[in-house]
Amino acid sequence: MKNNFAAVGRLLESSKRLLFITGAGVSAESKIPTFRGATAAFADGMTEDGMPFEEVLSGTTFRANPTLAWKYLFKLEQSIRGKTPNAAHRVMAALQSPRRHVCVATQNIDGLHQQAGSRVVLELHGNIRRVICTRCQYSDYRETFEGMPPLPRCPRCDAMARPDVVLYEESLPVLVLESFVREQERGFDVVFSVGTTSLFPYVSQPIWSAARRGVPVVEINPERTVISSLANYRFAGPAGETLQQLMREMGT
Ligand code: NAD
Ligand code: ZN
Repeated sequence: MKNNFAAVGRLLESSKRLLFITGAGVSAESKIPTFRGATAAFADGMTEDGMPFEEVLSGTTFRANPTLAWKYLFKLEQSIRGKTPNAAHRVMAALQSPRRHVCVATQNIDGLHQQAGSRVVLELHGNIRRVICTRCQYSDYRETFEGMPPLPRCPRCDAMARPDVVLYEESLPVLVLESFVREQERGFDVVFSVGTTSLFPYVSQPIWSAARRGVPVVEINPERTVISSLANYRFAGPAGETLQQLMREMGT
């Protein structure tokens, strides 16, 4: 493992374009629970409202019963409220330099990568603090959802507002996906998968395609995942600690 740290440290040192694909595990050390934990879904995935967790947070539920969907969106926002970036977010931001481009494609909706100073953050699932109108697309940024309910309405047209997050059954934001494709077309020297199960195809596919082209793949995750067998280097430790150690290896 020592040699792995040194080898990846050298790769980081010489890299000019880096991709980090991140998921909930990156924010675990900021004490943000998984969605299931935050919404208090029981072991069988059922919420206290007798609906599976994926259903209360779906586009269909939001349209049919926005009060119910908002109840769980509030819980999610509460689980993120006041949380701050950890070493993993900070190292990814610190790796940016005039000669190194760092792209972060995240499934997280907590905004912690930007808070840590990362400049190119592709939010595949949106950001819970951006609230948008369901009718006119007016968009507003909320520091906190404290004081809500009542459910937020659009200050322009009074229609229902909602967080700009991708609910279950909904498609990904087109502009973000287009940016992700452009970034991948330019290529990367190293691709990292950090704190994600990589279950969504748009998260595992860039790893597959990097591996096919011979681009080194690094995985940081305490558990094995669907992309583990593709990784040239695998670190089974927590994201923050591991990335800090990799950064220390640079230039040594
Ligand atoms: P997941 O919850 O399915 O999996 C988390 C992964 O992180 C697991 O593979 C786990 O082994 C790993 N992990 C746990 N602790 C870790 C640590 N300290 N360091 C490194 N890895 C660690 O998350 P997912 O794959 O991102 O997908 C679930 C969905 O939940 C996504 O849609 C995501 O948007 C959403 N989500 C977001 C947040 C957030 O914004 N912070 C939080 C929870 C869930
Ligand atoms: Zn409106």
